[in-house]
Amino acid sequence: MNNCTGACCKWGVFADVTERDNILNHTKMIQKYLEPMQEKNPDKWFESDVCEDIDFPSGMAIGTQANEHGCVFLDSNGLCALQKAALAEGLHPYALKPFYCIAFPLVISQHSLMIDDLEIENRPNCCSLSDNGTKNILDLCATELDFMLGGEGFEEFNKIFDQQNR
Ligand code: SF4
Ligand code: SF4
Repeated sequence: MNNCTGACCKWGVFADVTERDNILNHTKMIQKYLEPMQEKNPDKWFESDVCEDIDFPSGMAIGTQANEHGCVFLDSNGLCALQKAALAEGLHPYALKPFYCIAFPLVISQHSLMIDDLEIENRPNCCSLSDNGTKNILDLCATELDFMLGGEGFEEFNKIFDQQNR
């Protein structure tokens, strides 16, 4: 993770339709923080098709569009314009960012919390498992786990993790 380049934003992300609506409700604000090469037209920020997915709160997900630069919200420095906009406007940094962008490299798949192991196998330089690594998932992803599980859930996770790794 010390080598993060935003490469996992290359293909965009699936967002809940309510997250899409939240982003579109802040269109003018977000547009202020887009670079010249980034797509300004909100009609081109998301795919046209919505799909059913049980791992999203509403049960309906939609992909952000991606182009040769990656996700439409990815800037030339590997930063997310949604987070940049939120921070610059004094909002919570995650006010506009899709859940799965905040959680990565953790994911929820078929209601199970897991590391996105299929994806990280392709990333030996960044969020990947290391055979001789000295850090565990709690060392590296405490922020993401806390975000995903909430305070009480995170505490419970810590207890179970301790019991299993004694
Ligand atoms: S996989 Fe992790 S370290 Fe690699 S680009 Fe994505 S967030 Fe950054
Ligand atoms: S919305 Fe932001 S964090 Fe998520 S894939 Fe796009 S650029 Fe990356």
